[in-house]
Amino acid sequence: APIHTYQVCKVMEQNQNNWLLTSWISNEGASRIFIELKFTLRDCNSLPGGLGTCKETFNMYYFESDDEDGRNIKENQYIKIDTIAADESFTELDLGDRVMKLNTEVRDVGPLTKKGFYLAFQDVGACIALVSVRVYYKKCPSVIHNLAHFPDTITGGDSSQLLEVSGVCINHSVTEEAPKMHCSAEGEWLVPIGKCLCKAGYEEKNNTCQVCRPGFFKASPHSPSCSKCPPHSYTLDEASTSCLCEEDYFRKESDPPTMACTRPPSAPRSAISNINETSVFLEWIPPADTGGRKDVSYYIACKKCSSHSGLCEACGSHVRYLPQQTDLKNTSVMMMDLLAHTNYTFEIEAVNGVSDQNPGARQFVSVNVTTNQAAPSPVSTVKKGKITKNSISLSWQEPDRPNGIILEYEIKYFEKDQETSYTIIKSKETTITADGLKPGSAYVFQIRARTAAGYGGFSQRFEFETSPLDKNTLLLWLFFGFFSFSRRCGYSKAKQDPEEEKMHFHNGHIKLPGVRTYVDPHTYEDPNQAVHEFAKEIEASCITIERVIGAGEFGEVCSGRLKLQGKREFPVAIKTLKVGYTEKQRRDFLGEASIMGQFDHPNIIHLEGVITKSKPVMIVTEYMENGSLDTFLKKNDGQFTVIQLVGMLRGIVSGMKYLSDMGYVHRDLAARNILINSNLVCKVSDFGLSRVLEDDPEAAYTTRGGKIPIRWTAPEAIAFRKFTSASDVWSYGIVMWEVMSYGERPYWEMTNQDVIKAVEEGYRLPSPMDCPAALYQLMLDCWQKDRNSRPKFDEIVSMLDKLIRNPSNLKTLVNASTSNLLVEHSPIGSSAYRSVGEWLEAIKMGRYTEIFMENGYSSMDAVAQVTLE
Ligand code: AMP
Repeated sequence: APIHTYQVCKVMEQNQNNWLLTSWISNEGASRIFIELKFTLRDCNSLPGGLGTCKETFNMYYFESDDEDGRNIKENQYIKIDTIAADESFTELDLGDRVMKLNTEVRDVGPLTKKGFYLAFQDVGACIALVSVRVYYKKCPSVIHNLAHFPDTITGGDSSQLLEVSGVCINHSVTEEAPKMHCSAEGEWLVPIGKCLCKAGYEEKNNTCQVCRPGFFKASPHSPSCSKCPPHSYTLDEASTSCLCEEDYFRKESDPPTMACTRPPSAPRSAISNINETSVFLEWIPPADTGGRKDVSYYIACKKCSSHSGLCEACGSHVRYLPQQTDLKNTSVMMMDLLAHTNYTFEIEAVNGVSDQNPGARQFVSVNVTTNQAAPSPVSTVKKGKITKNSISLSWQEPDRPNGIILEYEIKYFEKDQETSYTIIKSKETTITADGLKPGSAYVFQIRARTAAGYGGFSQRFEFETSPLDKNTLLLWLFFGFFSFSRRCGYSKAKQDPEEEKMHFHNGHIKLPGVRTYVDPHTYEDPNQAVHEFAKEIEASCITIERVIGAGEFGEVCSGRLKLQGKREFPVAIKTLKVGYTEKQRRDFLGEASIMGQFDHPNIIHLEGVITKSKPVMIVTEYMENGSLDTFLKKNDGQFTVIQLVGMLRGIVSGMKYLSDMGYVHRDLAARNILINSNLVCKVSDFGLSRVLEDDPEAAYTTRGGKIPIRWTAPEAIAFRKFTSASDVWSYGIVMWEVMSYGERPYWEMTNQDVIKAVEEGYRLPSPMDCPAALYQLMLDCWQKDRNSRPKFDEIVSMLDKLIRNPSNLKTLVNASTSNLLVEHSPIGSSAYRSVGEWLEAIKMGRYTEIFMENGYSSMDAVAQVTLE
């Protein structure tokens, strides 16, 4: 301090060596200490005569020791810290002006290893006053950083050293990674690592962890702050880590605590059923209240109810559910294999993730249905009875699901590997004896049952063998037996049980003159058998493929050439089945050939044959140079005469008449499914089983689940799947419209729903431009709501023939409005007809005029009141 000034000024004397020592200074654990000196020093130049000996520096030393016994150590044991010079020295003048030129110098020493030290100052002949000596060390001050507390930390001994210091998490905080900081030699905290987080139930506020108040929670240290309890939950305590659900609300184990508590859903709504024989299709809409969850699914309970007692029992495991019975994600399900003529109650229950926590709250909607009649299920058990050289007796059990009273059984049998030649026996009993068989030969039997609902499927194949001949009878048999077996074709009723009826078939059918009907390949157990029944197998080597002309559902369609032995080569179309097909795809693909092969008509695409023995599997048909009719017409818009167009229509209807005579309903008649050749001959194509509609891009799903090309389909077929030749006639009317408008899209861009509605309300397509009135009238006739009022295909054939013979009848054109509006055609338009008789004439029902009059329907107003009853 200034008052206790230590000073020396022996500048005039030689060999000065004056020492000033401090007392022992504890270093308080520091290993690097700093010494700040404040002093004044006299400028030697300002001293008269002292120049030879005057010095302007002094030396500073230290000596380390653990205690105060260093008083008597020798001067040479001190370690020098530095020679200290003044930045500014003072002169005589300064003294006169009373100016103190104070110097400040700082030096540091370290690392120190003992508990304390002495400092020493050596003067060697300067004029110097030591005003103050400040000894200190540096530390990093205690701090809270990232919720961790770091204590006061004395810096390290080295000037560049960083000390690693661990922090301690403050109250209510936790850590995953221990927090650390580094204390620099300058006493600064550097490089923080890790952090603490307020534990669950606490949140960070002003560097502390504060408790979550009641009504709030924090589930994990990682959540930033306390949150309000989610809907339908609460907490009464402080420091909550989760909230409790209110009564009747629940949380699934996997639900996060931030999610609202939820409850089971309410019942599904508006369930409707659609019965098809022994299948029931149920559809409903989701519950009004999903309980606050997204994981709603449905469960179907099935009960069979007695119509007398009203008592119900569970349906049992024979019922099949599509896609499944439980955990249904969609709002529809199909139940199959129900019993025919039976009352069922289906309970559709909505279920979500918390339903099982409150079984009492389960809610469902019930649907009562009565199944229709259905064909019997296949016979499953067949046992052989007595077997002789020439006969095999069989017995079997009624099918598991007869679905009605069994009227008779049909037993089909043939000698093994001789399938094209088979015999059918009909029997009312569950036993038969097949006689007239070859000795020692294997026979294949199949049985099916018939009820009022028709035939069920055939049973699987059962194979039995007749007993072998003994040598004595062999010769005899060879002579006589041969005769009985050569009579394979025809009809025999000889020597039979009156309950039995026996028919022999060869290559498919008993030929009855003039009657040929289409055979559904589905009635064949083995689809390969069906295809070979109706289609020729062609050697792959006879085919040359030339180019790809189209894409079918099952693979590419190519053009190419077919060279059959002994015949000229000619062009063909080849449909291929792409590789990697499933068995069902192969069956459906060849199904078309099985159908096409049954037809033989100039306006039906002709099947040349199939290739099934090598890959790829192919269907070979006649080649139609101009491809599909709709594309062809669009490409040649306005290029044909009316007579040419009518010629095309004549061809199509002629093919359709043939199909309807065969009992085949096409279901997908549209210009895109008509092919046209270079002579402009149109032929009906695209035959299929159920798949016809599956592969048509125009086919849309209806509310009843079927896939239907709405724009081409008659209303009754859309509404209740009533597909008949009369619905094909409706489609034919649409094809007429497509042809006369050169491939315009029916109903343009109206949506399917709008089309259904408009047609239902009596609107019809307007006449195409420049369309003869007679043709448009024919279209309107085809679009009669009442399917029985539509013309038959043979009537259309003769109408078109008449028009072609008298083309003048095609001259009157419809006064077509150019707008694309649909036209209303009300059959009982209020003022369209003056009398009931005129109206009946107009709809070709003139013969009923009298009956109408007799029953009091004498005015159009009265007719308009007619109800369904
Ligand atoms: P499909 O799978 O029958 O609809 O055939 C697909 C496409 O192949 C058709 O739209 C036609 O363009 C073409 N196509 C099919 N069969 C024949 C054929 N017999 N002659 C010429 N082109 C055909």
